[in-house]
Amino acid sequence: MVPAPLFLAPIDDTVTVVAVEVSQGSGPLADEPITIATLRARDGAEHIARIVGGPNAHGGFTRLAGYVVPVVGMRVRADLLDTTPAWKPAGVLPTPRTSFALNTPAGTWPDTALPVTFVLAGSTSRDVGDEALAELDVATRTWSNVDCTGFRAGVGAKSTAPAGDDGINGVYFQNQEWPAGLVAGAIGQTVVHVDASGRYRDADIHINSKNFRFSLDGQDGTIDLRSVLVHELGHALGLGHSTDPRATMFATVQGLRSRSLEKDDIVGVCTLYPGEGEPGCDSSPCPSPLLCVAGRCQRRGDATDVCSPCERVPGACDAAGDDARCIDIGEGATAGRVCGRACENDTDCGMGFHCRDTTTSGDRQCVSEVRCANGANVCTTDTDCRLGTCRAGACVGPTTEDAGNVDPAATPTEAGVAADASDTPVHEAGCTCSMPSGGSHAAPLGLVTLTFATLARAWKRRSRR
Ligand SMILES: [Zn+2]
Repeated sequence: MVPAPLFLAPIDDTVTVVAVEVSQGSGPLADEPITIATLRARDGAEHIARIVGGPNAHGGFTRLAGYVVPVVGMRVRADLLDTTPAWKPAGVLPTPRTSFALNTPAGTWPDTALPVTFVLAGSTSRDVGDEALAELDVATRTWSNVDCTGFRAGVGAKSTAPAGDDGINGVYFQNQEWPAGLVAGAIGQTVVHVDASGRYRDADIHINSKNFRFSLDGQDGTIDLRSVLVHELGHALGLGHSTDPRATMFATVQGLRSRSLEKDDIVGVCTLYPGEGEPGCDSSPCPSPLLCVAGRCQRRGDATDVCSPCERVPGACDAAGDDARCIDIGEGATAGRVCGRACENDTDCGMGFHCRDTTTSGDRQCVSEVRCANGANVCTTDTDCRLGTCRAGACVGPTTEDAGNVDPAATPTEAGVAADASDTPVHEAGCTCSMPSGGSHAAPLGLVTLTFATLARAWKRRSRR
Protein backbone atom coordinates (compact mmCIF):
# COMPACT_ATOMS: atom_id res chain seq x y z
CA MET A 1 0.00 0.00 0.00
CA VAL A 2 1.07 3.52 -0.68
CA PRO A 3 0.97 5.55 2.52
CA ALA A 4 -0.53 8.80 1.34
CA PRO A 5 -2.96 10.11 3.94
CA LEU A 6 -2.18 13.67 2.94
CA PHE A 7 -3.70 13.14 -0.46
CA LEU A 8 -7.00 11.91 0.85
CA ALA A 9 -7.83 15.48 1.82
CA PRO A 10 -10.20 17.24 -0.57
CA ILE A 11 -8.13 19.01 -3.16
CA ASP A 12 -10.76 21.55 -4.11
CA ASP A 13 -10.24 23.31 -0.81
CA THR A 14 -7.16 25.00 0.52
CA VAL A 15 -5.42 24.71 3.85
CA THR A 16 -3.26 27.15 5.73
CA VAL A 17 0.38 26.54 6.47
CA VAL A 18 0.72 27.15 10.22
CA ALA A 19 4.25 25.88 10.90
CA VAL A 20 7.29 24.97 8.86
CA GLU A 21 10.51 23.20 9.68
CA VAL A 22 13.31 22.68 7.19
CA SER A 23 15.55 19.68 7.72
CA GLN A 24 18.12 17.81 5.71
CA GLY A 25 16.97 14.88 3.61
CA SER A 26 18.27 11.37 3.95
CA GLY A 27 19.13 8.43 1.72
CA PRO A 28 19.09 9.40 -1.95
CA LEU A 29 18.04 12.94 -0.99
CA ALA A 30 20.72 13.52 1.66
CA ASP A 31 21.83 16.74 -0.03
CA GLU A 32 18.34 18.20 -0.34
CA PRO A 33 16.32 20.33 2.07
CA ILE A 34 13.05 18.80 3.19
CA THR A 35 10.26 21.09 4.33
CA ILE A 36 7.93 19.64 6.93
CA ALA A 37 4.82 21.77 7.15
CA THR A 38 1.83 21.70 9.46
CA LEU A 39 -1.30 22.36 7.41
CA ARG A 40 -4.60 23.40 8.99
CA ALA A 41 -7.92 22.90 7.23
CA ARG A 42 -10.96 25.14 7.71
CA ASP A 43 -12.44 22.74 10.24
CA GLY A 44 -9.30 22.98 12.35
CA ALA A 45 -7.95 19.55 11.45
CA GLU A 46 -4.20 19.53 11.02
CA HIS A 47 -1.92 17.29 9.08
CA ILE A 48 1.75 17.17 8.25
CA ALA A 49 3.16 17.54 4.75
CA ARG A 50 6.70 16.63 3.91
CA ILE A 51 8.14 17.77 0.62
CA VAL A 52 11.48 18.39 -1.06
CA GLY A 53 12.20 22.08 -1.18
CA GLY A 54 13.51 25.17 0.55
CA PRO A 55 16.78 27.05 0.83
CA ASN A 56 19.66 24.66 0.36
CA ALA A 57 23.22 24.33 1.61
CA HIS A 58 24.66 25.63 -1.68
CA GLY A 59 23.20 29.12 -1.45
CA GLY A 60 20.40 28.28 -3.80
CA PHE A 61 16.82 27.17 -3.62
CA THR A 62 15.43 23.69 -4.15
CA ARG A 63 11.92 22.76 -5.19
CA LEU A 64 9.95 19.84 -6.44
CA ALA A 65 8.63 20.63 -9.90
CA GLY A 66 4.87 20.96 -9.98
CA TYR A 67 4.55 21.54 -6.22
CA VAL A 68 4.76 24.52 -3.94
CA VAL A 69 7.23 24.87 -1.10
CA PRO A 70 4.99 25.70 1.88
CA VAL A 71 5.73 28.90 3.78
CA VAL A 72 3.99 29.93 7.02
CA GLY A 73 0.83 31.90 6.28
CA MET A 74 0.40 30.57 2.74
CA ARG A 75 -2.83 29.01 1.65
CA VAL A 76 -2.09 25.91 -0.38
CA ARG A 77 -3.88 22.92 -1.76
CA ALA A 78 -3.87 20.05 0.69
CA ASP A 79 -1.79 18.04 -1.76
CA LEU A 80 0.67 20.94 -2.23
CA LEU A 81 0.17 20.81 -6.00
CA ASP A 82 1.10 24.04 -7.66
CA THR A 83 -2.12 25.66 -8.82
CA THR A 84 -0.57 28.51 -10.73
CA PRO A 85 -3.11 29.34 -13.43
CA ALA A 86 -2.14 28.76 -17.02
CA TRP A 87 0.05 31.57 -18.19
CA LYS A 88 -1.54 33.69 -20.89
CA PRO A 89 0.52 36.70 -21.91
CA ALA A 90 -1.69 38.90 -24.04
CA GLY A 91 -0.70 39.42 -27.65
CA VAL A 92 2.44 37.33 -27.49
CA LEU A 93 1.41 33.85 -28.47
CA PRO A 94 0.27 32.75 -31.89
CA THR A 95 -2.64 30.76 -30.49
CA PRO A 96 -5.29 32.40 -28.33
CA ARG A 97 -5.82 29.41 -26.06
CA THR A 98 -2.91 27.84 -24.29
CA SER A 99 -2.88 25.74 -21.19
CA PHE A 100 0.74 25.28 -20.31
CA ALA A 101 1.99 26.53 -16.97
CA LEU A 102 5.32 27.68 -15.70
CA ASN A 103 6.99 26.10 -12.76
CA THR A 104 6.97 28.30 -9.69
CA PRO A 105 9.13 30.09 -9.02
CA ALA A 106 9.17 30.61 -12.77
CA GLY A 107 12.65 30.15 -14.11
CA THR A 108 14.66 29.19 -17.10
CA TRP A 109 18.19 28.12 -17.84
CA PRO A 110 20.36 31.06 -18.86
CA ASP A 111 21.60 31.04 -22.47
CA THR A 112 25.10 30.29 -21.24
CA ALA A 113 23.89 27.00 -19.73
CA LEU A 114 22.64 25.68 -23.09
CA PRO A 115 22.80 22.95 -24.11
CA VAL A 116 21.75 21.58 -20.73
CA THR A 117 23.49 18.25 -20.25
CA PHE A 118 21.66 15.39 -18.54
CA VAL A 119 23.41 12.23 -17.37
CA LEU A 120 22.44 8.87 -15.95
CA ALA A 121 23.51 8.90 -12.31
CA GLY A 122 23.50 6.44 -9.45
CA SER A 123 21.95 3.04 -10.00
CA THR A 124 21.43 1.53 -13.43
CA SER A 125 17.82 1.06 -14.51
CA ARG A 126 16.66 -2.32 -13.24
CA ASP A 127 14.30 -2.76 -16.18
CA VAL A 128 16.03 -1.34 -19.25
CA GLY A 129 19.69 -1.22 -18.16
CA ASP A 130 22.05 0.89 -20.25
CA GLU A 131 19.38 1.41 -22.91
CA ALA A 132 18.16 4.19 -20.65
CA LEU A 133 20.87 6.43 -22.10
CA ALA A 134 19.49 6.19 -25.64
CA GLU A 135 16.01 6.92 -24.29
CA LEU A 136 17.30 9.96 -22.43
CA ASP A 137 19.12 11.10 -25.57
CA VAL A 138 15.97 10.87 -27.66
CA ALA A 139 13.90 12.55 -24.94
CA THR A 140 16.26 15.56 -24.91
CA ARG A 141 16.06 15.77 -28.72
CA THR A 142 12.31 15.84 -28.49
CA TRP A 143 12.47 19.26 -26.80
CA SER A 144 15.49 20.56 -28.77
CA ASN A 145 14.03 19.71 -32.19
CA VAL A 146 10.95 21.91 -31.84
CA ASP A 147 10.98 24.37 -34.76
CA CYS A 148 10.42 27.53 -32.72
CA THR A 149 12.67 26.98 -29.71
CA GLY A 150 16.25 27.84 -28.85
CA PHE A 151 16.25 25.34 -26.00
CA ARG A 152 18.99 22.77 -26.30
CA ALA A 153 19.71 19.68 -24.24
CA GLY A 154 21.82 16.59 -24.63
CA VAL A 155 23.39 13.72 -22.72
CA GLY A 156 26.77 13.27 -21.07
CA ALA A 157 28.81 10.52 -19.44
CA LYS A 158 27.37 8.54 -16.56
CA SER A 159 27.92 10.02 -13.12
CA THR A 160 28.22 8.64 -9.62
CA ALA A 161 27.29 11.96 -8.04
CA PRO A 162 24.44 11.85 -5.57
CA ALA A 163 21.41 14.04 -6.20
CA GLY A 164 21.69 17.65 -5.12
CA ASP A 165 22.46 21.20 -6.14
CA ASP A 166 25.83 20.37 -7.69
CA GLY A 167 25.44 21.38 -11.33
CA ILE A 168 25.18 17.75 -12.42
CA ASN A 169 21.76 17.12 -13.94
CA GLY A 170 21.23 13.48 -13.05
CA VAL A 171 18.57 10.94 -13.88
CA TYR A 172 18.27 8.67 -10.85
CA PHE A 173 16.62 5.28 -11.00
CA GLN A 174 15.38 4.71 -7.46
CA ASN A 175 15.33 0.91 -7.57
CA GLN A 176 15.66 0.35 -3.83
CA GLU A 177 13.70 3.12 -2.20
CA TRP A 178 11.41 5.91 -3.36
CA PRO A 179 12.73 8.72 -1.19
CA ALA A 180 10.57 10.28 1.49
CA GLY A 181 9.96 13.89 0.52
CA LEU A 182 9.16 12.94 -3.04
CA VAL A 183 5.48 12.26 -3.54
CA ALA A 184 4.53 8.70 -2.70
CA GLY A 185 3.15 6.84 -5.71
CA ALA A 186 4.54 9.21 -8.33
CA ILE A 187 6.13 7.55 -11.36
CA GLY A 188 8.80 10.20 -11.75
CA GLN A 189 9.63 13.58 -10.23
CA THR A 190 12.01 16.39 -10.97
CA VAL A 191 13.80 18.50 -8.39
CA VAL A 192 15.09 21.83 -9.65
CA HIS A 193 17.68 24.11 -8.12
CA VAL A 194 17.64 27.82 -8.82
CA ASP A 195 19.88 30.70 -7.90
CA ALA A 196 18.73 33.82 -6.05
CA SER A 197 17.49 35.33 -9.32
CA GLY A 198 15.40 32.30 -10.20
CA ARG A 199 17.74 31.05 -12.90
CA TYR A 200 17.93 27.30 -13.16
CA ARG A 201 21.33 25.83 -12.45
CA ASP A 202 20.62 22.17 -11.72
CA ALA A 203 17.82 19.67 -12.23
CA ASP A 204 17.63 16.09 -11.03
CA ILE A 205 15.08 13.62 -12.34
CA HIS A 206 14.02 10.75 -10.09
CA ILE A 207 12.41 7.67 -11.60
CA ASN A 208 10.33 5.45 -9.31
CA SER A 209 11.70 2.08 -10.41
CA LYS A 210 11.06 0.76 -6.90
CA ASN A 211 7.29 0.78 -7.41
CA PHE A 212 6.90 0.65 -11.20
CA ARG A 213 8.20 -1.44 -14.09
CA PHE A 214 9.56 0.49 -17.03
CA SER A 215 10.09 -0.57 -20.62
CA LEU A 216 11.29 0.63 -24.01
CA ASP A 217 7.91 0.04 -25.63
CA GLY A 218 5.19 0.52 -23.01
CA GLN A 219 4.21 -3.15 -23.17
CA ASP A 220 1.48 -4.51 -20.88
CA GLY A 221 2.07 -3.85 -17.22
CA THR A 222 4.95 -1.44 -17.83
CA ILE A 223 5.44 2.25 -18.25
CA ASP A 224 7.20 3.63 -21.29
CA LEU A 225 10.41 5.15 -19.97
CA ARG A 226 10.79 7.66 -22.77
CA SER A 227 7.31 9.09 -22.18
CA VAL A 228 8.21 9.74 -18.55
CA LEU A 229 11.59 11.25 -19.44
CA VAL A 230 10.07 13.63 -21.99
CA HIS A 231 7.55 14.81 -19.38
CA GLU A 232 10.14 15.23 -16.62
CA LEU A 233 12.49 17.07 -18.97
CA GLY A 234 9.62 19.49 -19.55
CA HIS A 235 9.69 20.24 -15.82
CA ALA A 236 13.48 20.45 -15.89
CA LEU A 237 13.36 23.18 -18.54
CA GLY A 238 10.77 25.20 -16.63
CA LEU A 239 7.28 23.98 -17.47
CA GLY A 240 4.67 23.03 -14.90
CA HIS A 241 1.62 20.87 -15.45
CA SER A 242 -0.70 21.77 -18.30
CA THR A 243 -4.46 21.68 -17.93
CA ASP A 244 -4.76 20.40 -21.51
CA PRO A 245 -5.28 16.62 -21.32
CA ARG A 246 -3.69 16.21 -24.74
CA ALA A 247 -0.43 17.79 -23.63
CA THR A 248 2.66 15.84 -22.64
CA MET A 249 2.84 18.19 -19.66
CA PHE A 250 -0.57 17.06 -18.43
CA ALA A 251 -0.03 15.38 -15.06
CA THR A 252 -0.74 11.82 -16.16
CA VAL A 253 0.78 9.57 -18.77
CA GLN A 254 -0.66 6.75 -20.86
CA GLY A 255 0.90 4.34 -23.28
CA LEU A 256 3.34 6.01 -25.68
CA ARG A 257 1.44 9.22 -26.16
CA SER A 258 3.70 11.40 -24.01
CA ARG A 259 6.64 10.65 -26.28
CA SER A 260 5.45 13.30 -28.69
CA LEU A 261 4.95 16.96 -27.89
CA GLU A 262 1.57 18.47 -28.61
CA LYS A 263 0.72 22.04 -29.53
CA ASP A 264 0.44 23.19 -25.93
CA ASP A 265 3.89 21.82 -25.04
CA ILE A 266 5.38 23.43 -28.12
CA VAL A 267 3.92 26.84 -27.28
CA GLY A 268 5.30 26.37 -23.77
CA VAL A 269 8.90 25.63 -24.70
CA CYS A 270 8.91 28.26 -27.44
CA THR A 271 7.62 30.89 -25.01
CA LEU A 272 10.32 30.10 -22.46
CA TYR A 273 13.08 29.71 -25.06
CA PRO A 274 12.17 31.34 -28.35
CA GLY A 275 14.49 30.61 -31.23
CA GLU A 276 15.06 28.09 -33.96
CA GLY A 277 14.94 24.36 -33.36
CA GLU A 278 17.82 21.97 -33.79
CA PRO A 279 17.62 19.87 -36.98
CA GLY A 280 16.31 16.34 -36.56
CA CYS A 281 18.27 13.12 -36.81
CA ASP A 282 19.02 13.50 -40.54
CA SER A 283 22.07 15.55 -39.57
CA SER A 284 22.73 14.03 -36.15
CA PRO A 285 22.63 10.23 -36.07
CA CYS A 286 20.37 8.53 -33.55
CA PRO A 287 21.97 6.70 -30.63
CA SER A 288 22.55 3.04 -31.46
CA PRO A 289 20.49 0.93 -32.05
CA LEU A 290 17.80 3.45 -32.95
CA LEU A 291 17.01 4.43 -36.54
CA CYS A 292 16.20 7.83 -38.01
CA VAL A 293 12.65 7.65 -39.37
CA ALA A 294 10.96 10.77 -40.72
CA GLY A 295 13.42 12.95 -38.82
CA ARG A 296 12.89 11.27 -35.42
CA CYS A 297 14.63 8.37 -33.69
CA GLN A 298 12.73 5.10 -33.45
CA ARG A 299 13.51 1.61 -32.26
CA ARG A 300 12.95 -1.34 -34.57
CA GLY A 301 9.42 -2.60 -34.17
CA ASP A 302 8.19 0.61 -32.53
CA ALA A 303 4.43 0.79 -32.20
CA THR A 304 2.15 3.77 -32.85
CA ASP A 305 4.89 5.85 -34.46
CA VAL A 306 5.59 6.82 -38.07
CA CYS A 307 5.43 3.73 -40.34
CA SER A 308 4.17 1.51 -37.51
CA PRO A 309 1.33 -0.81 -38.54
CA CYS A 310 -2.00 0.51 -37.30
CA GLU A 311 -5.72 0.06 -37.20
CA ARG A 312 -8.23 2.88 -37.16
CA VAL A 313 -8.88 2.96 -33.45
CA PRO A 314 -8.28 5.73 -30.95
CA GLY A 315 -4.67 5.91 -29.86
CA ALA A 316 -3.41 3.96 -32.87
CA CYS A 317 -0.68 6.50 -33.63
CA ASP A 318 -0.08 8.01 -30.19
CA ALA A 319 3.71 8.07 -30.32
CA ALA A 320 3.59 10.18 -33.49
CA GLY A 321 1.35 12.82 -31.91
CA ASP A 322 -2.33 13.42 -31.32
CA ASP A 323 -2.91 14.55 -34.89
CA ALA A 324 -1.16 11.56 -36.46
CA ARG A 325 -3.47 9.46 -38.63
CA CYS A 326 -3.53 5.82 -39.61
CA ILE A 327 -3.04 6.19 -43.36
CA ASP A 328 -3.28 3.82 -46.32
CA ILE A 329 -0.22 2.79 -48.27
CA GLY A 330 0.25 0.44 -51.21
CA GLU A 331 -2.39 -1.01 -53.46
CA GLY A 332 -3.95 -4.41 -54.02
CA ALA A 333 -1.81 -7.16 -52.48
CA THR A 334 0.57 -4.64 -50.93
CA ALA A 335 -2.10 -2.45 -49.36
CA GLY A 336 -2.02 -1.79 -45.67
CA ARG A 337 -2.16 0.88 -43.02
CA VAL A 338 0.63 2.62 -41.16
CA CYS A 339 0.92 5.67 -38.96
CA GLY A 340 1.78 9.05 -40.41
CA ARG A 341 2.58 12.21 -38.49
CA ALA A 342 0.87 15.56 -38.86
CA CYS A 343 2.94 18.02 -40.88
CA GLU A 344 2.82 21.29 -42.74
CA ASN A 345 5.64 20.78 -45.20
CA ASP A 346 8.35 18.33 -46.25
CA THR A 347 10.91 19.67 -43.79
CA ASP A 348 8.67 18.49 -40.94
CA CYS A 349 9.06 14.93 -42.20
CA GLY A 350 12.80 14.45 -42.64
CA MET A 351 14.62 12.63 -45.40
CA GLY A 352 12.79 9.91 -47.30
CA PHE A 353 9.34 11.23 -46.40
CA HIS A 354 6.98 13.77 -47.91
CA CYS A 355 4.24 15.82 -46.35
CA ARG A 356 1.12 14.94 -48.31
CA ASP A 357 -2.64 15.37 -48.18
CA THR A 358 -4.05 12.07 -46.92
CA THR A 359 -7.72 12.94 -47.05
CA THR A 360 -9.88 14.80 -49.47
CA SER A 361 -10.24 17.48 -46.82
CA GLY A 362 -6.51 18.06 -46.91
CA ASP A 363 -5.23 16.49 -43.70
CA ARG A 364 -1.47 16.47 -44.14
CA GLN A 365 0.73 13.65 -42.89
CA CYS A 366 4.32 12.48 -43.34
CA VAL A 367 4.24 9.69 -45.93
CA SER A 368 7.18 7.45 -46.81
CA GLU A 369 8.61 7.76 -50.33
CA VAL A 370 9.25 4.01 -50.38
CA ARG A 371 6.19 2.45 -48.76
CA CYS A 372 7.81 2.43 -45.31
CA ALA A 373 10.77 0.32 -46.45
CA ASN A 374 12.70 3.14 -44.72
CA GLY A 375 10.73 2.71 -41.49
CA ALA A 376 11.38 0.88 -38.23
CA ASN A 377 8.98 -1.96 -39.03
CA VAL A 378 10.61 -3.54 -42.08
CA CYS A 379 10.22 -7.27 -42.76
CA THR A 380 10.73 -10.21 -45.04
CA THR A 381 7.98 -12.40 -43.68
CA ASP A 382 5.09 -12.00 -41.22
CA THR A 383 7.21 -13.45 -38.44
CA ASP A 384 9.40 -10.35 -38.60
CA CYS A 385 6.40 -8.24 -37.60
CA ARG A 386 5.68 -7.79 -33.93
CA LEU A 387 2.47 -6.14 -35.04
CA GLY A 388 0.66 -6.34 -38.36
CA THR A 389 1.53 -8.39 -41.41
CA CYS A 390 4.41 -8.18 -43.86
CA ARG A 391 3.50 -6.69 -47.24
CA ALA A 392 6.17 -5.70 -49.73
CA GLY A 393 8.85 -5.28 -47.08
CA ALA A 394 6.93 -3.36 -44.44
CA CYS A 395 4.72 -4.44 -41.55
CA VAL A 396 1.27 -2.96 -42.07
CA GLY A 397 -2.12 -3.03 -40.41
CA PRO A 398 -5.23 -4.41 -42.10
CA THR A 399 -7.19 -2.33 -44.57
CA THR A 400 -10.52 -4.07 -44.12
CA GLU A 401 -12.63 -2.18 -41.65
CA ASP A 402 -14.23 -4.37 -39.01
CA ALA A 403 -17.90 -3.72 -38.50
CA GLY A 404 -18.20 -0.94 -35.97
CA ASN A 405 -14.55 -0.03 -36.27
CA VAL A 406 -15.40 3.42 -37.43
CA ASP A 407 -13.16 6.39 -37.09
CA PRO A 408 -14.65 8.10 -34.03
CA ALA A 409 -13.02 11.40 -34.86
CA ALA A 410 -13.82 11.64 -38.56
CA THR A 411 -15.88 14.66 -39.41
CA PRO A 412 -19.13 14.14 -41.29
CA THR A 413 -17.55 15.88 -44.25
CA GLU A 414 -14.62 13.50 -44.39
CA ALA A 415 -16.78 10.43 -43.91
CA GLY A 416 -19.16 11.59 -46.59
CA VAL A 417 -16.40 12.26 -49.06
CA ALA A 418 -14.62 9.00 -48.32
CA ALA A 419 -17.84 7.10 -48.95
CA ASP A 420 -18.09 8.56 -52.41
CA ALA A 421 -15.92 6.23 -54.49
CA SER A 422 -15.80 8.55 -57.45
CA ASP A 423 -14.17 11.23 -55.34
CA THR A 424 -12.02 9.14 -53.01
CA PRO A 425 -8.28 9.50 -53.35
CA VAL A 426 -5.80 6.71 -52.64
CA HIS A 427 -5.59 7.90 -49.08
CA GLU A 428 -8.97 7.87 -47.48
CA ALA A 429 -10.13 9.46 -44.28
CA GLY A 430 -8.58 8.00 -41.14
CA CYS A 431 -8.73 8.55 -37.47
CA THR A 432 -7.10 11.45 -35.75
CA CYS A 433 -6.09 8.98 -33.09
CA SER A 434 -6.74 11.15 -30.08
CA MET A 435 -7.47 9.40 -26.84
CA PRO A 436 -10.52 10.30 -24.82
CA SER A 437 -9.50 12.52 -21.97
CA GLY A 438 -10.00 11.57 -18.37
CA GLY A 439 -7.72 10.27 -15.69
CA SER A 440 -9.15 6.83 -15.08
CA HIS A 441 -6.89 5.14 -17.60
CA ALA A 442 -3.92 7.33 -17.12
CA ALA A 443 -1.05 7.04 -14.70
CA PRO A 444 0.18 9.92 -12.57
CA LEU A 445 3.54 11.44 -13.20
CA GLY A 446 3.44 13.57 -10.13
CA LEU A 447 0.14 12.80 -8.49
CA VAL A 448 -0.82 10.24 -5.98
CA THR A 449 -3.95 8.38 -6.83
CA LEU A 450 -3.32 4.81 -7.79
CA THR A 451 -1.62 1.75 -6.44
CA PHE A 452 0.64 -0.26 -8.67
CA ALA A 453 -1.94 -2.99 -9.13
CA THR A 454 -4.43 -0.46 -10.38
CA LEU A 455 -1.86 0.99 -12.70
CA ALA A 456 -0.88 -2.36 -14.11
CA ARG A 457 -4.48 -2.88 -15.12
CA ALA A 458 -4.73 0.60 -16.53
CA TRP A 459 -1.67 -0.04 -18.62
CA LYS A 460 -3.13 -3.06 -20.35
CA ARG A 461 -3.11 -2.30 -24.00
CA ARG A 462 -4.56 -3.99 -26.97
CA SER A 463 -1.83 -6.24 -28.31
CA ARG A 464 -1.68 -8.61 -31.22
CA ARG A 465 0.98 -11.04 -32.33
ZN1 LIG B 1 4.80 16.26 -13.92
